[in-house]
Amino acid sequence: MSATRFTLTTLGTGAAVPATGRYPSAQVLNVGEALYLVDCGEGTQERLRQAGVNFMRIGHIFISHMHGDHYLGLMGLMSTMHLLGRQSLLKIFGPPELREVIEVQLRASGTYLRYSYHFVSLVPANGVLIHQDQRVSVEMLALKHRIPCTGFVFRERTALRPLRLDMLHLIPHFKRSAVKKGEDLLLPDGTHYPNKELTLDPPPPRSYAYCSDTAYDPALQAFIAGIDLLYHEATFTTALEARARETQHSTAAQAATLARDAQVGQLLLGHFSARYRDLRPLLDEAREVFPRTTLSNDGETYAVHQRTAV
Ligand SMILES: [Zn+2]
Repeated sequence: MSATRFTLTTLGTGAAVPATGRYPSAQVLNVGEALYLVDCGEGTQERLRQAGVNFMRIGHIFISHMHGDHYLGLMGLMSTMHLLGRQSLLKIFGPPELREVIEVQLRASGTYLRYSYHFVSLVPANGVLIHQDQRVSVEMLALKHRIPCTGFVFRERTALRPLRLDMLHLIPHFKRSAVKKGEDLLLPDGTHYPNKELTLDPPPPRSYAYCSDTAYDPALQAFIAGIDLLYHEATFTTALEARARETQHSTAAQAATLARDAQVGQLLLGHFSARYRDLRPLLDEAREVFPRTTLSNDGETYAVHQRTAV
């Protein structure tokens, strides 16, 4: 298992209206202590505080779509970052309309943010790369919803190759970073060491996919194949499948069908309708199709493990 942290904290797992104990959608992915916020429903700031997350360290925010339960907490969060003196750049990815909403609110309140933000407009398309940094690459998913809606696939970028302790004495300090990146070693006396004699294989990269909100869509299968952890909305039970179709949401069994067909490692269900006080029926229906299913809870943290380790 890799030593680098790769965890998901679900801050809000409810659908539409806040229900007892469940806030609207928001979650934070921690990859090697870099924080990526995915959706930002109302109350996200409080949820971040309760979860002990220092939100000044959030560098990237991804918003799936313009339904209020996925973004109404954003202005509050941006405003608090400003009041607390944030200076580092904030990158926001979301629908083009979101940029207008941010701009109009800042203009109306005469706010000049102390930090810069960079907005990337998204037009949903499957498998398109929208972001890459040292730790992760992020691709889009075109979800099937009443308005344009984007899902996100986070893939850990291949780690550097750890140096073999027993070979360390052979590698001059100034060559170590190149060898970790996979280069062979050529010493001044002409001795050549292939990289594989000097390094160990890095742990396989981990991956996480976020699919909310969406109707059941088998077209997603190819783009989330083999993902280690899939978060998929499960707004309804099978009894309300017609309602799910009508509102462009999914049932728990549909989420599980996609997880099974895409051969993911683990399935985490969320975005539950407030009508369900007891979520057990959703879990049971999903597990019948895909046993490695868990219900997400507000404030809970899940480690993302390699699928092979499941
Ligand atoms: Zn929605």
